[in-house]
Amino acid sequence: MSAVYTTDEYGRPFIIVREQDKKSRKTGIEAAKSHILAAKTVAGIVRTSLGPRGLDKIMISPDGDITITNDGATILQNMKVDNQIAKLLVDLSKSQDEEIGDGTTGIVVFAGALLEQAEELLDRGIHPVRISEGFEKACKIAVDHLDSVSDTIHWTKDDTSNLFKCAKTSLGSKIVNKCHDQFANMAVDAVLSVADLERKDVDFELVKVEGKVGGELADSQIIFGVVVDKDFSHPQMPKEIKDARICILTCPFEPPKPKTKHKLDITSVSEYKSLQDYERKAFEDMISKVKESGSNLVVCQWGFDDEANHLLLAHKLPAIRWVGGPEIELIAIATSGRIVPRFEDLSSEKLGTAGTVREITFGTNNEKMIVIENCANPKAVTALIRGGNKMIVDEAKRSLNDAMCVVRNLIRDNRVVYGGGAVEIACSLAVFKQADKISTIEQYAMRGFSQALDAIPLTLAENSGLEPIETLSELKSTQLETGNFRLGVDCMSTGSNDMREQFVFDPLISKRQQLLLATQLVKMILKIDDVIVHSAGEN
Ligand code: ADP
Repeated sequence: MSAVYTTDEYGRPFIIVREQDKKSRKTGIEAAKSHILAAKTVAGIVRTSLGPRGLDKIMISPDGDITITNDGATILQNMKVDNQIAKLLVDLSKSQDEEIGDGTTGIVVFAGALLEQAEELLDRGIHPVRISEGFEKACKIAVDHLDSVSDTIHWTKDDTSNLFKCAKTSLGSKIVNKCHDQFANMAVDAVLSVADLERKDVDFELVKVEGKVGGELADSQIIFGVVVDKDFSHPQMPKEIKDARICILTCPFEPPKPKTKHKLDITSVSEYKSLQDYERKAFEDMISKVKESGSNLVVCQWGFDDEANHLLLAHKLPAIRWVGGPEIELIAIATSGRIVPRFEDLSSEKLGTAGTVREITFGTNNEKMIVIENCANPKAVTALIRGGNKMIVDEAKRSLNDAMCVVRNLIRDNRVVYGGGAVEIACSLAVFKQADKISTIEQYAMRGFSQALDAIPLTLAENSGLEPIETLSELKSTQLETGNFRLGVDCMSTGSNDMREQFVFDPLISKRQQLLLATQLVKMILKIDDVIVHSAGEN
């Protein structure tokens, strides 16, 4: 390390370390290429997770927590990515996840392939701006073509079989694939019960996905109401309450306690007794106040001691204690009750109502949960996921969430395109055809785009153990010959390439979003031609 020893204007010595001032700088094509390399590396990681036969990844966090998943967005979010451009790819998958909830792996694989094509075009000496323009044109053609190869899925409130099939397809690659049907049914039931069919919208806030370790995946169920991971405060309280009128308290509910900060002198047994009587009396007053309001169940955010618990039992007022803040809110929404923050504010209008509140136990172990059903507001559902360990429960929660997103997307817009790479092949052919009609240099970029689209069927074939290039060329030529745009990769070896028969659909909005977002990102990366990294201490 070279350092210069010098003095300032007052004669005080100081040292200049040369390297502090050093920057590493990449410009032009070199910059673009280094970005492409970073992005390709990220895409390469999630590649093997695409499709129904995609493999899972295991991620271990710094504190030893383990996540097993094949969900692109989750993989990328759990990865520690330092490179800024690679981070953009992580964000890309995140935005697809937030807007659509599905297709998070596909979008990264496609963006990676598009960048790979861009690299080749740069090598051929085509200017990045021209590449961007070509990609833009090709993307427009592909997106327009999506409409012409789309189909509509018919469903009604009474006939949801098609929604069910789509949900099932989305679960195909997930850990839950042993209980496909059950999870698909759960997804459809949960989404439909909170959906506003007139406005074609679904409020996901009303769906709570709750996991409880233990039992099997097959024990998972949808509960039309709220599930709280608690039990009644006393084991002798009734296990089921009909026509519950619930008092929701966020203030303490127990006998008043002498504050330890203040000095309290008790000099005789009788004084002690009178204090005890006072406490008991005050709490009994509280209990009768609750009962006078018409309530027959107390849900309290705070805890209370054995004495209070005993009094509650004696006065036949069941209670649930230590209920968390979010649950309290959900109970209030579901039962149309009001949260009571100060005990004096309690009144009968503030009570929430529910048809039944019952305690459920699981198997032979002593685990209990409270289920609040037939609530005043029927639009609240909970999916209760069971599974052997936390990793399975977490992955099952994510899978159910994906399936629910598919159903929600179909409620919003029931147009679909065929999956298994079928739609990508159709778009690839369309773009390739149009490229021939362009006389300018953009035609190369358009052909590149068309080849990038092929990455999806190629990857699907590769991940399913098929010969990728052979599969793709066969599918392409058959699609071109027959005009049947439903032909895709037969990942599950069913013997048919017709994706309609296999019910492999992707929502049109999801595919459109994938193409648009990925193209936008690639264009952005291509526009960057200068990277200045200040790296202290580097030679
Ligand atoms: P993403 O996170 O992108 O949704 P997935 O791992 O769920 O990734 O894979 C989705 C891809 O797999 C889509 O292109 C879809 O069309 C395809 N796919 C899903 N199920 C099948 C199937 N049974 N046969 C062929 N392709 C399928």
